[in-house]
Amino acid sequence: MKKIYIQGIVYLLLLASVLFLPHKPAYIQDITKNIPSTDFTITTEWYQFLIEPFTGIPDYFLSFRQAQKQALSWLFWLFIFSIFFSIILKKERNIVKILSQYYSFLIWFFITITFVLFFPLPKYYISQNNQNFILVDFHSHTFFSHDGIVTPEESQKWHRIHKFDAFYITDHDRNFYRRIQKKLANHLIRPIMLPGEELSDTTGSHYLALGLERSIFDQKNRNITFFSSKIHKKNGVILAAHWWQEKAIPLASLLKSSIDGFEIFGHEKKYIDNETLSILMSFCRDNKLAAIAGTNWHGWGTRNDLWTYIAVDKNIKKTKSKYLNKFIVETLSSPDSSKISGVLTITNNQTYSHSRIFFEPFYGLYYYITGQTTLQRIFFVFWVILLTLLVSIFLKNKELKRHTYIIFAILFFTLFLSFFFKWLHVSSLNKTLLALSGFYLLLSAMLVGKSYFLSLRKSPKSTSSQ
Ligand SMILES: [Zn+2]
Ligand SMILES: [Zn+2]
Repeated sequence: MKKIYIQGIVYLLLLASVLFLPHKPAYIQDITKNIPSTDFTITTEWYQFLIEPFTGIPDYFLSFRQAQKQALSWLFWLFIFSIFFSIILKKERNIVKILSQYYSFLIWFFITITFVLFFPLPKYYISQNNQNFILVDFHSHTFFSHDGIVTPEESQKWHRIHKFDAFYITDHDRNFYRRIQKKLANHLIRPIMLPGEELSDTTGSHYLALGLERSIFDQKNRNITFFSSKIHKKNGVILAAHWWQEKAIPLASLLKSSIDGFEIFGHEKKYIDNETLSILMSFCRDNKLAAIAGTNWHGWGTRNDLWTYIAVDKNIKKTKSKYLNKFIVETLSSPDSSKISGVLTITNNQTYSHSRIFFEPFYGLYYYITGQTTLQRIFFVFWVILLTLLVSIFLKNKELKRHTYIIFAILFFTLFLSFFFKWLHVSSLNKTLLALSGFYLLLSAMLVGKSYFLSLRKSPKSTSSQ
């Protein structure tokens, strides 16, 4: 009995210590000016406080800058924790039971990841202190890309949540803008969907071709000189996408090919380092090129922390897509574009050192907590206590365990069906939706299996304990 009291006190003290950590709030950084933005702030709605961990945890996972390494670090520590839990705490010696423990951990890991990727509420909203700007996303994908998982309507909804006034659809080497517009029928629905395409050349570099309603991709002429002359003839603009990742073509050669600008920031496999960022920004400034950002959203997760703002007069906000597109394209190709536009992101100055990556779950928790206000921490502690209670009930009750696994199996089966039927609409173009539906079918089978094994184990124990 005494041991339980001590454990309880340690647990409560640990939770209480959360309230005394320093507060380092996230804020909007104007990347172009390299200062915190005075025109934009982030806000949190009252209901977001109430459900703090449900918006905060997805926000944390989706803010990864070195996603693969940070995720690997998590898997490593989960493995250590699962070994610690089964061998030290539960004094388990049977290898099958230890592995089965890890199997349960993996199932819960995938449940968490599913939640992170598909939970519909973001942690923050961006708000404008004055109405002198429009917010534009220059880079986003739909399920018409081989690797996108959302319909154009879903993309529009996501952009609306993140307060964009306009967004370009830039599917890989194809442009279905007219087909999409016909279906949507209403050109005035906000935010305004604008026509674009992400072109890939033979070096593996990508370009955003903006402003045209038809694809200019040509399998035989996959090079920047061809792309650029073709798009300029049709009054569009072309920008280098995530140049820092491939660096396949030197900046000077791109300038020679009449490129109109660069993406200077974004969430890619390779994150842009500060040095490359400043090289790119001064290159754009010196050569009067546009410097923009794109979310490159493919449909995963609800978080966004990237916007490009453009100074406008108020009337343009109410305009139709055709005129807005013309205005934006003209802005990007004008020599003044760097003076009237800029890139915003959310930050709270985290470190990404080697030790952070190795100890990611610990650093991550620290940054997550220090980013919270006192009220958010109180709700966080409340949810941790509630979840601890639920988990302890769950662990003791085999029937409850079985039913929980079945509920998740049904949920994942529904996800399987929804991704599968979505895939049928674009089966010749898209690979990811089919793979995703297969993954959820497998996960649903894993849960049914888990529940079945529990029912096998249940009968002898429950009779002996009664
Ligand atoms: Zn790309
Ligand atoms: Zn892309």
